[in-house]
Amino acid sequence: MKRNVIKLMEVCGTHTMAIARSGIRKVIPGGIELISGPGCPVCVTSQKDIDRAIMIAREKDVVMTTFGDMMRVPGSRTSLEGVKGLGADVKVVYSPLDAVSMAKDAPDKNVVFMGVGFETTSPLVASAVIEAKKRDIRNFSVLSNFKLVFPALEAIAGSEKIAVDGFICPGHVSVITGSAPYEDIARRFGKPCVITGFGQADIIKGITRLVDQINRGDNRVEIEYKRAVTNKGNTRAKSVLDEVFSPSDAEWRGLGKITKSGLKFRDDYSFFDAKNRFPVKVPEPRVPKGCICAEVLQGISRPGDCRLFGKACTPSSPVGPCMVSSEGSCAAQYRYGE
Ligand code: SF4
Repeated sequence: MKRNVIKLMEVCGTHTMAIARSGIRKVIPGGIELISGPGCPVCVTSQKDIDRAIMIAREKDVVMTTFGDMMRVPGSRTSLEGVKGLGADVKVVYSPLDAVSMAKDAPDKNVVFMGVGFETTSPLVASAVIEAKKRDIRNFSVLSNFKLVFPALEAIAGSEKIAVDGFICPGHVSVITGSAPYEDIARRFGKPCVITGFGQADIIKGITRLVDQINRGDNRVEIEYKRAVTNKGNTRAKSVLDEVFSPSDAEWRGLGKITKSGLKFRDDYSFFDAKNRFPVKVPEPRVPKGCICAEVLQGISRPGDCRLFGKACTPSSPVGPCMVSSEGSCAAQYRYGE
């Protein structure tokens, strides 16, 4: 069946950046609309979870560690960078294992790693936790804000408001998860899924395959990234993840609470849970006035629809996470224009 406009969602923030950088939107036919999804981990972290990290960073003898993109994300009142300026010990790390080493070298401090990310990142953190347990490093903990992609995809696939016709699926996440979990999304919701790499040619091939499927009335899962993705994925990484964490309900910016879309510590590892270790009371969060990141993350609005875009909100003075993150839609549009 032919459609007037085919709406395809690129789920992954790396795809969002690649699409903007290569100008793909400008060259595809007008009947295809590409919308950005919730695949930027920094952007989908809820305001409350950011506020909690900031409050823990202010606790006595805490060293808060995280990936660079999280530093400037605005919480309700300040950011991790803001509290660092006021004297809190906040450090950027490139790997969760760096935080474990930091804890070993500073036994009088409590080193917390604020973890955000999807199935690509969380197995690395699980393995760092296993390592900390093995080496009996008791002054290390993790603030788990990890998310699982598939419950979010289900929420989007079932949403009439968003009305996506097919998914350009994340290459990196699929290396770990494999293609099998998409089959349920494709079948149950009638949405074709194509897993692609990150080059311009990869993405265009992915779009072509999706459009072909939609025009034929197919709802299949295709792997357009066979050099890295298999049906089963990385079983070792999945079992490391499963050893430390189990699914739990999680709050997403834009999508709200999604059942079993986050990760909580299993009992054997709960000692490393920063939420237990630092039970701070987080006040009701405040979303910046005028920021429509929530709509942008659902693909309902485009960054340019935000009246703050490029005026009050720029990469050097970001109001919302979508302008801070190197994978954010607003940052992509600001940088490359479209
Ligand atoms: S332009 Fe800034 S304030 Fe507006 S949606 Fe994007 S990040 Fe949020």
